[in-house]
Amino acid sequence: MDVTFWGVRGSYPASGAAFAEFGHHTPCIAVGAGDHRIVIDAGSGAAALGAALAAAPARRLDLLLSHFHLDHMIGLPFLIAGTRKAAELHVHAALGADLDLEGLVRRFCAPPYFPDEARELFRGVQFHAVDPGAAIAANGHRILTAPLTHPGGATGFRVEHDGRSLVVITDHEAGARPDPRLVALARDADLLVHDTMFTEEEAALRVGWGHSTLEAALALTTAAGVRRLAGFHHSPAHDDATLRAREAQGRARFACMTFAREGETIRLQGGP
Ligand SMILES: [Zn+2]
Ligand SMILES: [Zn+2]
Repeated sequence: MDVTFWGVRGSYPASGAAFAEFGHHTPCIAVGAGDHRIVIDAGSGAAALGAALAAAPARRLDLLLSHFHLDHMIGLPFLIAGTRKAAELHVHAALGADLDLEGLVRRFCAPPYFPDEARELFRGVQFHAVDPGAAIAANGHRILTAPLTHPGGATGFRVEHDGRSLVVITDHEAGARPDPRLVALARDADLLVHDTMFTEEEAALRVGWGHSTLEAALALTTAAGVRRLAGFHHSPAHDDATLRAREAQGRARFACMTFAREGETIRLQGGP
């Protein structure tokens, strides 16, 4: 299973040379290759994924939306535009089975937020809303979900493929101890991608903002027996030097830990 980071930044894109190593764009992660992709979130990084898919179309794409904050949605029309050649495009969210997901997404991609032409993009797109914690069916993959602690709600996902497992937990404000539901979601995962936006000092000043620290991500990694951790949703206030220093602190405590870098692909070996 290949996991590619198209966007790793939180809140808003960070431009300039000081951010070049870890990257500029907001969240978008693509899983798989060839004719089927599972994509988690459609931040500004999703525009480049859309362009890549326009050049090399997939047969089916399943987009999982963790929640609808702008930094996770701003690239959505560009991703959809790029995947129009795909035979099937499915959009999923686990924030309530009664949510009008199609209406919400269409309103976001319509005037006055986007030009009228965006309406045309949705022809044939299928929308699926389930309750928090319910499983999602995506082209034979069973994707597990768990609710996160975030203003307005958000969803953590566990994707299994070829005998390997990816868990993505962003945006989430961890408590003093790991949430048992998230320990279960992340149990023995090959790769955990976890919100590490704040330093301990920032987190103390921003209670209720809905984000986590490296320390909280490491606590869940240990509690769940995770094999590899990738910090994610980097603060746009943290330049490359800051992130490299925090990454070194993390690796001193858990060797199989990095901060995710835009453009990086992590290959989880296994299966046929
Ligand atoms: Zn966010
Ligand atoms: Zn958010």
